[in-house]
Amino acid sequence: MIAVVGAGPAGESAARAAARAGARVVLIDSAPHAGGQYRRGRRRPAPGVEHLFETTVWAVENGGLRLHLRTGPADSPDRTGRVLDADAVVLATGAHDRALPFPGWALPGVVTAGAAQALAKDQHTAVGSRVVVAGTGPFLLPVATSLLRVGADVVAVLEAGNPLAGWAREPRAVLAGRAKLGELAGYLAVLARHRVPYRTRTTVVAAHGDTDVREVTTARLDSGWRIVSGTARLLAADAVCVGFGFTPRLELAVAAGCRLRGGFVAVDERQATSAPGVHAAGEITGVGGADLAAAEGAVAGLAAAGARPPESLLAAVRRGRAFAAGLDRAHAVRPGWRTWLTADTVVCRCEEVTLADLRAHDVLGVRSLKLRTRAGLGQCQGRVCGRNAAELAGPGFRADPVAASRRPIATPLRLGELATTPLEDEG
Ligand SMILES: Cc1cc2nc3c(=O)[nH]c(=O)nc-3n(C[C@H](O)[C@H](O)[C@H](O)COP(=O)(O)OP(=O)(O)OC[C@H]3O[C@@H](n4cnc5c(N)ncnc54)[C@H](O)[C@@H]3O)c2cc1C
Repeated sequence: MIAVVGAGPAGESAARAAARAGARVVLIDSAPHAGGQYRRGRRRPAPGVEHLFETTVWAVENGGLRLHLRTGPADSPDRTGRVLDADAVVLATGAHDRALPFPGWALPGVVTAGAAQALAKDQHTAVGSRVVVAGTGPFLLPVATSLLRVGADVVAVLEAGNPLAGWAREPRAVLAGRAKLGELAGYLAVLARHRVPYRTRTTVVAAHGDTDVREVTTARLDSGWRIVSGTARLLAADAVCVGFGFTPRLELAVAAGCRLRGGFVAVDERQATSAPGVHAAGEITGVGGADLAAAEGAVAGLAAAGARPPESLLAAVRRGRAFAAGLDRAHAVRPGWRTWLTADTVVCRCEEVTLADLRAHDVLGVRSLKLRTRAGLGQCQGRVCGRNAAELAGPGFRADPVAASRRPIATPLRLGELATTPLEDEG
């Protein structure tokens, strides 16, 4: 049996491909439906696949081949437990979007671009009536157009980088991703039709308000993302959506013992990880959009089922990866963002750790960061703040993506659930 974790474009496509190759497949997702972050339920169940929705894989053992599951709504005390022993596993757990801290970012009304997108797509609701979208990368564009579609006044889309210069240095990536150019042009046309300004080398560097956001300060940035003096402007807004790329969800891959490369799961041409029997696909192996995730998923599903992926599919993955590498460089987060913070800016929201608290200690790694400052010890377990806190820590800090994602219990679990957890696959 092949267990596929994650029913986004990567996992769904892996499950379909493996089932078509004749394997028995179980597709697991903590969401109540298939589709992942992008398609959000707008998918029919894959034929010939056993679907386990509202089911979370909260831990893996045996090199990733034994999966511990809990089924039921996340906040229900009546979730049921199950253990699955798989012959092969495809991990397709995706990514979550990254926010950078700035003064006022903890105010109600500041949300991630992904959260705004999810609310617009799922609930047809806008996060605010006057919204600023800020960050870096092409994802800001569909978020702004979704907000317009649900009736928000999008005040501006602020891109911190310099996309024209960035993409001009990436001719190979542009060529590989040329199919996406029409989609991007479509989003820009919608912004133009609604007279929404799209400003580059500009971002939100502070949000203001007593109880929630009322205004934001925007500023021009130099090529390293330091604020250009004299360029600060105030804009009235009741919501800010921030998105500075994506952070892969690596807990299960790290627990399975998969090697990482550049902060993502390292895979070979057939999406095999360094853990025997464990394949990985989609945004945990690199961020390149839904089409690349689906192509990688199909390769992973076929390979996990012992079938040979066709050359055309492998070529699609290579093209997608060339585009993803260019995207990563053209929209890289530059170190100057660290100068936007003041001493009292909160870095870890769960534990309310400020920049001054963080810098008061000489921390050398993830463990000492957590134990000495408490950053990353709260409910999100460092998923939101971990990367930022590591980049803000002193010069002696040694970044270690494996240590940063080592969470043997991958998702929140009640003590009672732990006590009643089955120990073996009961078939
Ligand atoms: C919030 C958000 C909104 C986005 N909206 C858009 C958009 O509108 N347009 C666009 O082009 N791109 C969008 N993207 C990017 C797009 O989602 C990705 O390119 C694409 O979905 C990646 O596919 P994937 O299969 O790798 O991961 P995902 O689509 O993220 O799927 C991963 C799945 O794994 C499941 N999962 C994770 N961990 C576990 C676990 N432990 N147990 C069980 N299930 C688990 C998750 O519930 C999720 O359904 C968005 C990304 C995010 C984070």
